[in-house]
Amino acid sequence: MRPELVDFHCHLDLYPDLAESIAACDSRRAATLAVTTTPKAFRRNVELAAESEFVRVALGLHPQLVAERASELILFESLLVETRYVGEVGLDAGPGHYRSFEAQKRVFARVLDLCEAAGDKVLSVHSVRAATPVLDLVERVLPRTRGAVIMHWFSGSVREAERAVALGCYFSVNQRMFASENGRRIVSALPPELLLTETDGPFIKVEREPIKPGDVGQAVNMLAELRGWEPEVTRSQVLSNLHELLA
Ligand code: MN
Repeated sequence: MRPELVDFHCHLDLYPDLAESIAACDSRRAATLAVTTTPKAFRRNVELAAESEFVRVALGLHPQLVAERASELILFESLLVETRYVGEVGLDAGPGHYRSFEAQKRVFARVLDLCEAAGDKVLSVHSVRAATPVLDLVERVLPRTRGAVIMHWFSGSVREAERAVALGCYFSVNQRMFASENGRRIVSALPPELLLTETDGPFIKVEREPIKPGDVGQAVNMLAELRGWEPEVTRSQVLSNLHELLA
């Protein structure tokens, strides 16, 4: 069956029931990237998603966990061969995490280097207060001929977004981004063919409840409204963007 929607960044394993989250994405026919935050979480996701038609599992090492989990880089290296998808990885210079920033840069550079060597990996990348250093590393280590980078919930400046576009990055946008002026400015400026949607569940809340896995309907509608496109055209644009990206 063909997918109907794209949720290219969701933490399915951070909902109470992983199997149920996977089933939710399948019943919505949402092509979902199940990102993980530590390499240790990868295998269980793969096992439970083995029969899923629409869920793909990414191998991750979240920048916010690098302070405690940098030692799992070795496990990351050995598991990388098992998947085309990598995430959540990246850099976070927010108040709670700048202390590990040097370690984060080492880990992220190594991840990019491994992806460059492997070729054809698809990465979902976090960049909080760190768009420029993320792009510096991507530019230096992972040329677009060697892998695809998707900037998840991009919150840098429009200038940084333009630089990411020039480097060939895609962007996965969620409904929360439309609530901020900067988010709307960025989403307005991006080329249509580089846009994907995401929930970033369960971190985004809808009426105090975590957003449902694969539930990108609002993100599609808000994107359509902001850009002045028909919702249906927007939905199929995002699907064809994913198709192009993975081709
Ligand atoms: Mn995330």
